[in-house]
Amino acid sequence: MNYKHVTVAGSGVLGSQIAFQTAFKGFNVSVYDINDEVIERAKERFMNLKQRYQEDLGATQKDVDAAYERISFYSDLSEAVADADLVIEAIPEVVQSKMDFYRQLGKVAPEKTIFATNSSTLLPSQFAEATGRPEKFLALHFANEIWKNNTAEIMKHSGTDMKVFDEIIEFAKAIGMVPLPLHKEQPGYILNSLLVPFLEAAEMLLLKEVADVETIDKTWMIATGAPLGPFAILDVVGISTAYNIVQAKAKATGNKDFKKLAELLKTEYIDQGKLGRGTGEGFYTYPNPQFMKPDFLQG
Ligand code: NAD
Repeated sequence: MNYKHVTVAGSGVLGSQIAFQTAFKGFNVSVYDINDEVIERAKERFMNLKQRYQEDLGATQKDVDAAYERISFYSDLSEAVADADLVIEAIPEVVQSKMDFYRQLGKVAPEKTIFATNSSTLLPSQFAEATGRPEKFLALHFANEIWKNNTAEIMKHSGTDMKVFDEIIEFAKAIGMVPLPLHKEQPGYILNSLLVPFLEAAEMLLLKEVADVETIDKTWMIATGAPLGPFAILDVVGISTAYNIVQAKAKATGNKDFKKLAELLKTEYIDQGKLGRGTGEGFYTYPNPQFMKPDFLQG
């Protein structure tokens, strides 16, 4: 792996984090977004990230300044990718936007350039043809707050060259991630393939009044030694996200239980401003939720 220059397309929540982490680990990074106004907003995100790296990782002012110095900004795609070994795409989760982007990128990027998508729900095979270089394309999926939650799910589609797959695994390590290779396409990657059904199972126990929130979490925590139960995790994910997933499933399948579950999440939590940890209340109240109390697991 001898990547030196990385371009990140999209400077929103994840794009700015990917760009900063990559620069923090010594790579030259070009950030591309649709216009100069958005780029100016991205610069504010980077100021905030500099602070988070100091607070959370104990990085020095010198380190974060040096990382920022390695980032350059572009609103012209050809210029942004002129020297790129790798382009990481973090533009909105809209099929047509990504399709248009890859068609354009395929035309202007040098032949050597590898493309990786950070998409959470779309599969690389959907865009492989549009890139014009399916063998040099795959998914590289990060988690929010990349500097702390340092997973990198690396997923090939059937046409990805194994050499490219292996290089991206090395690259992920080089930027401080734990690489998690997926050898086949899987919607939701590994994490959400496990987490979504797990959280839904817990929500269904609540909906059917089998047990209350605390009993369900306590069962999981005592029996497996896990530090959080499913409802504590749902508070971190955010109840709006959980609602969107359940609502989409209710619509797609017509399943009555999912419909009832969506209603419960809306009326008892979302409509009451209980959106999870971020708002101070969800299934638990913060900053001192019940499950953190020393006697929670005792009885
Ligand atoms: P966001 O809305 O915060 O940012 C998207 C950015 O892309 C914006 O700055 C927008 O101006 C820019 N953009 C729009 N069209 C563009 C184009 N054609 N070319 C270049 N830039 C363009 O979105 P986000 O939350 O950062 O998500 C981006 C991608 O990352 C999505 O595919 C999402 O599934 C994935 N992702 C998000 C999270 C998360 O927690 N937010 C986590 C993992 C993966």
